[in-house]
Amino acid sequence: MSDILHKKAKLVMFLRSQGIMRPHILSALERVPREAFVPRALVAHAYENVSLPIAGGQTISQPFIVARMTEALEINKRHRILEIGTGSGYQAAILSHLCRRVYTMERLRPLMVDAENRLRSLQVSNVTFRYGDGYKGWPEAAPFDRIIVTCQSERLSDILVSQLKVGGILVAPVGVTGHEELIVVKRTEDGADVKTLMPVRFVPMLKGTEQ
Ligand code: SAH
Repeated sequence: MSDILHKKAKLVMFLRSQGIMRPHILSALERVPREAFVPRALVAHAYENVSLPIAGGQTISQPFIVARMTEALEINKRHRILEIGTGSGYQAAILSHLCRRVYTMERLRPLMVDAENRLRSLQVSNVTFRYGDGYKGWPEAAPFDRIIVTCQSERLSDILVSQLKVGGILVAPVGVTGHEELIVVKRTEDGADVKTLMPVRFVPMLKGTEQ
């Protein structure tokens, strides 16, 4: 077995030992080559359960957190999902195997362009990219079945919740920097039910866009 396949199998076993049980999520993690999403110098670490630096001072999330957030979304093949914070495109690639279409937004143009090229070369064709401020969401494509935010904000954006279908689920790291927690929001007819999953660390969600 090649080195990469061996490391990947070990990571999947580790994720299972941490309670990630759903076969379709584990198989999406097996299918997406994380080594294609990290800087060349860090490829040896691609299958460690760590977040790694990417361009623009941002990070690709830890595989366990990607798996846990994906699981919390309770996705099916018919869903249309909005992601805020494309970054490397790794989370979007995982989601692309589990739903109908991913709409992903990024405020740093070079990251978005790289992620778009990366997914094209991996022949992922159900991800749509937008360079823009995730605080505004994606009104033209709303409402979404699911929304995932992969950057930390002090409070949940009402605009994003308003772009979620009734019965839809949103997962986001929310709280003051350094003390954020993953929250799972289920939109109801008359508001939203919110529960807290676990403490996490994410790069901040910033306002506006940058070239
Ligand atoms: N999901 C990514 C992780 C990205 S890190 C992956 O799988 O690699 C979070 C990303 O959110 C960063 O790239 C950052 O630039 C982006 N971001 C921060 N604030 C944003 C905003 N307001 N709108 C869109 N993207 C934002």
